[in-house]
Amino acid sequence: MQGFILHTQSVKDEDLIVYILSPKSVIKSYRFYGMRHSSILSGYKIDFELEESSRFLPRLKDVLHIGFEWILDREKMFFWQEFIRLFYWHLKDVEHLDGFYFELLEECIKRFKKQNPKRVIVDAYLKILEFEGRLHKDFICFACDEKIQGDITLLRAFLPAHEHCAFSYKFEQKKLIEFYTNKNSAIFDNDEIEKLYLIIKEGL
Ligand SMILES: [Zn+2]
Repeated sequence: MQGFILHTQSVKDEDLIVYILSPKSVIKSYRFYGMRHSSILSGYKIDFELEESSRFLPRLKDVLHIGFEWILDREKMFFWQEFIRLFYWHLKDVEHLDGFYFELLEECIKRFKKQNPKRVIVDAYLKILEFEGRLHKDFICFACDEKIQGDITLLRAFLPAHEHCAFSYKFEQKKLIEFYTNKNSAIFDNDEIEKLYLIIKEGL
């Protein structure tokens, strides 16, 4: 089976509880102290086996790390692990998952190779919002319920608001419309990408 390590939690001695995103679910497994856990880091893609236990978590075994081409690029790995951490908080209590999330991470790995990681994450986040039916394209202010004319202030989860109704970063409406339509952040300059990224970091 293959999956992405979303999170690890140390328990007694050197054992670990390992959360893995597989194509169909988030698996909570138990890893007994093995020689070393070099292959058990959040963000890593692994091939693994589970040994079911009737009384406890399934045991994680035969772990094989599947590398990415950019895995030694520290900066990319830093952003990757930040994104994975957000994924964990978003999905940790979900048992059955659509394959969408696994496929999205696979796609991000490919795009990380060539593109600015923050742009990849901004694009991926838009797909998540749309997939989960949480993308607000109508630009009705979250605070006052009125239609927004002109610039849009975006809050956590890209909730739209008037500039005078909420305190956050604002964006040109026509750029957001293009972004939401084409699902591509190329319309934004690096400064705008930075702002979108900071909003995403507040939580998926
Ligand atoms: Zn308002």
